[in-house]
Amino acid sequence: MLGEGCATTGLRIGIGHDTHRLEAGGPLILGGVCLTHDRHAIGHSDADVLLHAVTDALLGAAALGDIGELFPDTDPANGGRDSGEMLLIAAQQVADAGFRIVNIDCIVFAQRPRLTPRKPAIRQRLAELLGIPPERIGIKAKTGEGLGPVGTEVAIEAQCVALLESVASTAE
Ligand code: MG
Repeated sequence: MLGEGCATTGLRIGIGHDTHRLEAGGPLILGGVCLTHDRHAIGHSDADVLLHAVTDALLGAAALGDIGELFPDTDPANGGRDSGEMLLIAAQQVADAGFRIVNIDCIVFAQRPRLTPRKPAIRQRLAELLGIPPERIGIKAKTGEGLGPVGTEVAIEAQCVALLESVASTAE
């Protein structure tokens, strides 16, 4: 049985996933960037589906729960809240637990808008929020091929995996 005293690599992986409904009228807040678009995401906070997936991936890798536990939607203080602020708080908890971020890789599922031209701005904003170089941040975009909630522009989704390393293991 694995436990303290067993050799480990000091690496921890986490996964995050999120979905938000879309409604008419822009702008679309995605990855901490305000994008010109004719639809916007609905949610208790600012409904930034990508930042929510990143937040959950980081928390999951450190086994610190999830975004819903940290920022309950029953708390009025979280109404309309900036998801970048929530990500910073979660990232600080991950750092306080003794981890630093190696890299993250993300997928945004959206029929529109076309995200390729917007990826550099989103990567840069994520790099600023996480305090890591943009070269350690992967952003991919997929349409729904016209199928399902994503393809019919009823929903936007995002996934993220995050790799953390134990600060203690790198100090040895
Ligand atoms: Mg969410």
